[in-house]
Amino acid sequence: MLTGPQISADTVTNSATRNLVNRWTETRQRIASAATRWGRLCDSVGLVAISKGHPAVAIRELAEQGQRDFGENYLQEALPKLQELQDLKLTWHFTGQLQGNKTRIVAEHFDWVHTLDRERIAVRLNEQRPHYAPPLNVCVQVSLEPEPGKGGVPPEEALSLARKVAALPKLKLRGLMCIPPPRETFDEQRALFERLAVCQRQLVDAGLALDTLSMGMTADLEAAVAAGATWVRIGTAIFGARHYK
Ligand SMILES: *Cc1c(COP(=O)(O)O)cnc(C)c1O
Repeated sequence: MLTGPQISADTVTNSATRNLVNRWTETRQRIASAATRWGRLCDSVGLVAISKGHPAVAIRELAEQGQRDFGENYLQEALPKLQELQDLKLTWHFTGQLQGNKTRIVAEHFDWVHTLDRERIAVRLNEQRPHYAPPLNVCVQVSLEPEPGKGGVPPEEALSLARKVAALPKLKLRGLMCIPPPRETFDEQRALFERLAVCQRQLVDAGLALDTLSMGMTADLEAAVAAGATWVRIGTAIFGARHYK
């Protein structure tokens, strides 16, 4: 009988875990070196691991390493994972486009919403946030260049929406978020992120207490850190390619 080398399911799982943990460690190193390079404290840049398209078991493996913040975009996909991981004390970030009829699930199950861009949605989240839960942390999403299907308010409308959000007691307005269109060079990426930082300073000057800039993904996290990101949202660099989107 001819048999090849025996590779048990365990070995495969262990090496997949090792790869995942290595990529997560490398991503943290990328963030730390960018922070150092731009004169920032390493712990001033938080990492939201964007786990959309990847199973709960991968999230659990990173949680065992100390990763606390995870982001999901699709509620249908996210809910079973949140339930499966209930025993872990994780912080869940909603980073997808939010539809009016889905706000209750987000209000009840998430800690952060990064993609708020409509007053109507803010009002619903505020009403639906359970009384026992702390206020929901939110970022207003700003679209730096109009892009169909990406969401976000133009920079000149950010202040007026932010003021309305800040007045809602069950929401805690934390800052701004953007998903800029892809750019080739670091300087171009950074220039876009700087526009979000400028917009945030205008809101602070107008009297809003903000401490968050959610910006930077796998392809542009260094430029985002250079421009002042306090959350980077990283999927591919940690989990590998997704099988959709
Ligand atoms: C998918 C997604 C990310 C992660 O993108 P990667 O390029 O895989 O790092 C970050 N933010 C938002 C809003 C996303 O939808």
